[in-house]
Amino acid sequence: MPAKTLSSTNQPPSRDRETPAPASGPSPEPMALEHVEDWIFDLDNTLYPANSNLFAVIDQRMKAFIGAELELASDDAFKVQKDYFRKYGTTLRGLMLHHDTDPHAFLDYVHDIDLAGLRPDPELARHLEKLEGRKIIHTNGSGKHARRVLERLGIDEFFSGVFDIIEADFLPKPEPAAYRHLLERYHLCAETSALFEDLPRNLVAAAEIGMTTIWVRNDTCWAEEAESPGHIHHVTDDLTGWIGGLVAARASRNDAARPDPSPPER
Ligand SMILES: [Mg+2]
Repeated sequence: MPAKTLSSTNQPPSRDRETPAPASGPSPEPMALEHVEDWIFDLDNTLYPANSNLFAVIDQRMKAFIGAELELASDDAFKVQKDYFRKYGTTLRGLMLHHDTDPHAFLDYVHDIDLAGLRPDPELARHLEKLEGRKIIHTNGSGKHARRVLERLGIDEFFSGVFDIIEADFLPKPEPAAYRHLLERYHLCAETSALFEDLPRNLVAAAEIGMTTIWVRNDTCWAEEAESPGHIHHVTDDLTGWIGGLVAARASRNDAARPDPSPPER
């Protein structure tokens, strides 16, 4: 595991709902993360803000799908949905195990959403363009959905791969085997990879196999669990600003490493 440095942005989080989350201004020195060569990004509520409510629409469609599939009233469908999510990592995993649900039908339905409310993010695009290293999506959703979102955000060209739930043989995060599968598929080394993710529980297995973890924190109730904060190496409330700070830190490190030009001869 790489040595950890302490700053206001990478302290293990303490979540106090009565007080505002600490500001997440990037701190360049500890953020150079020199050992990291490859960057893994979760998609939903990580690469776009949770308050865009896009995932809330997906969440509603999951409930509607379960209601129709299992012939349940809305409240009961919601209970099943969240019970499976907690127990199996994704709602889909529970549906497949207990009801033999067709995963493709589920994914097609829940991701059939309008992305018009999602705003392109040119600032994030600028920072990703400058961030050296491969960038790969690891999502519990479908690759088709991921590519639509990346295109809408205007950042698709910076990603060399999308490892989706279909390619993962429907084994979702936080199952440790899902991360090992990702590393094998893209020939990644855990010790030189970093994972951005909004759900703290999805960072546990990643940290245990040696990846550096960055919790992209938001205010949704599903993202507030951080019972064992030791698996969280960095925290930010602002992904774009954090990556911008990282790019700047790496650039200044590279400038400092260059030898001074020889003084002119007289
Ligand atoms: Mg997410």
